Amino acid sequence: MPTKSTESAVPTYTRPFSGARYHELSLKCREGQSPCAHCGRPCDDASPKTEWAHVVGGGAEFASKEEHDADGPSDDGGGDMGCFPVGPGCVRKLRAAGVHVFKMGAS
Ligand SMILES: [Zn+2]
Repeated sequence: MPTKSTESAVPTYTRPFSGARYHELSLKCREGQSPCAHCGRPCDDASPKTEWAHVVGGGAEFASKEEHDADGPSDDGGGDMGCFPVGPGCVRKLRAAGVHVFKMGAS
C-alpha cells in the first residue's frame, strides 16, 4: 500500500480522526449526525450532500476506492470501522491527499 512518509507536516489528511480538535468537535454531534472523519465537525447523516470516507485499519487509515468497492479490505482481519461523513471543508483536502471520498448511494 502506498505510504505518505514524505508528508511529515501536520495535519495528515490521510489519517482518519486526525483533526486537532476532533474530540472536542465530535462531542457536538446531535441525533442524526456523525463526526467528520477528519476534523470531527458534526455532519448530517441523512443529507444527500454529505460525502463519506471508509475508515479501516481500526481507524488508522482510509480505504482505497478498490477496497471500498470490495466492501472493505480484501485482507481484512478486522478493523473495518465503516463509513464516516466528511465535512464540506475537508472533502477537498482529503481528495487532494488521495483519499477516496464518495457520496452514499452514488453508483
Ligand atoms: Zn471535517
